[in-house]
Amino acid sequence: MKALQIPVVELPKETDELRREIRQFLKEEIENGSIVPKCDCWLSGFSAEFSKKMGERGWIGMTWPKKYGGGERSSVERYVVTEEMLAAGAPVSGHWIADRQSGPLFLKFGTEDQKQFFLPKIAKGECFFAIGLSEPNAGSDLANIQTRAVKVDNGWVLNGSKIWTSGAHVAHYSIVLCRTSPQDPNNRHAGMSQLIVDLKAPGVTIRPIHLMTGEHHFNEVFFEDVFIPDEMVVGEVGNGWAQGMAELAYERSGPERILSTYPLLNELTNILVENKDRNGLKQVSRLVSRMWTLRNMSLGIAQLLEEGVPSNIIASLVKDMGTKFEQEIAEITRLLVSVVPSTDSESLIEKYLAQSILQSPGFTLRGGTNEILRGIIAKGVIQQ
Ligand SMILES: Cc1cc2nc3c(=O)[nH]c(=O)nc-3n(C[C@H](O)[C@H](O)[C@H](O)COP(=O)(O)OP(=O)(O)OC[C@H]3O[C@@H](n4cnc5c(N)ncnc54)[C@H](O)[C@@H]3O)c2cc1C
Repeated sequence: MKALQIPVVELPKETDELRREIRQFLKEEIENGSIVPKCDCWLSGFSAEFSKKMGERGWIGMTWPKKYGGGERSSVERYVVTEEMLAAGAPVSGHWIADRQSGPLFLKFGTEDQKQFFLPKIAKGECFFAIGLSEPNAGSDLANIQTRAVKVDNGWVLNGSKIWTSGAHVAHYSIVLCRTSPQDPNNRHAGMSQLIVDLKAPGVTIRPIHLMTGEHHFNEVFFEDVFIPDEMVVGEVGNGWAQGMAELAYERSGPERILSTYPLLNELTNILVENKDRNGLKQVSRLVSRMWTLRNMSLGIAQLLEEGVPSNIIASLVKDMGTKFEQEIAEITRLLVSVVPSTDSESLIEKYLAQSILQSPGFTLRGGTNEILRGIIAKGVIQQ
């Protein structure tokens, strides 16, 4: 099955030194209390100071050209940074979206002015982006979006709303997918564009959606006659659907689709080793071998993306299998150790288990539900 072929990537020796450097940095940050590790850190662990420190170390925009503030390093080096951050549970959500997909979007479709303005700020860890796709009646059926922009002199006027927008309350901008031509029943994907919306602009209202725990990660975002200058259109007017779809492989194949609950797995292993629990460790070893396979798949896709190879089908496969895996870690932990999960606990296992149980229902929804991903995989394989 050609559609599912993923190359095996050997990490070069130089990445060992980088990994040591990151681990030392994270150890110091944790020991001096600058950061508090948590599960699902890439969506719910926010620290503007930490993002800035990562920028100073050159760990954001690592693969981008130096003239835009990037590091011209390889995608596998970037991969090492992201997986180490996730494994440690570091608060990386501020810059995550901008580093993962908004920056690459600008590099591919942005104007020279957009690249010069946004990329260096993102790479410094000073400019955060949110994803403005989902709407109340357009989630899986994204082509049904109703938010629209109408052409006026020198720009566009945007009206509508988005929902479940992660981090909109801390982000500076959102890339908003909207209609710039009326809906065409014969081509549902036509007439959409991507606009860069300043989230502090007049007419933008951000309302929190609180989780059952009271935590606040995502939002409703309303646009009422928001003026968007022409310079803030990404790529071609009307090409928003195709551009947005190109982002999805970045969004679905990264280590964050495998490692959201890694701090819990790590702590579970520590406890089972301490208790000499052979049965429990047998189950953990099965999890670890699955994790290794998923990680190799994810790493292979990172290389394909760097080479410009379309990878939507295999990225969907990684997300489907990876998010089920992340969820199972919480489930298996619950069965193996007798603890009372609590987000306020001093005990790491109790705290990480609570965070994992509370966040894990979202793993198989965010970025496209597993049912939708399986449809993409099935259709992709049949078409090959
Ligand atoms: C934690 C979290 C963070 C998120 N962050 C963002 C964000 O930053 N920006 C953003 O734009 N969105 C975000 N989302 C929204 C996410 O992309 C949507 O929740 C997702 O696409 C599903 O859309 P929906 O919620 O409207 O569910 P629906 O599309 O209504 O689906 C409901 C159920 O029906 C199933 N279903 C729907 N259609 C089909 C079909 N054709 N075949 C089989 N089953 C089907 C789905 O699989 C699902 O189980 C986030 C969601 C979560 C949970």
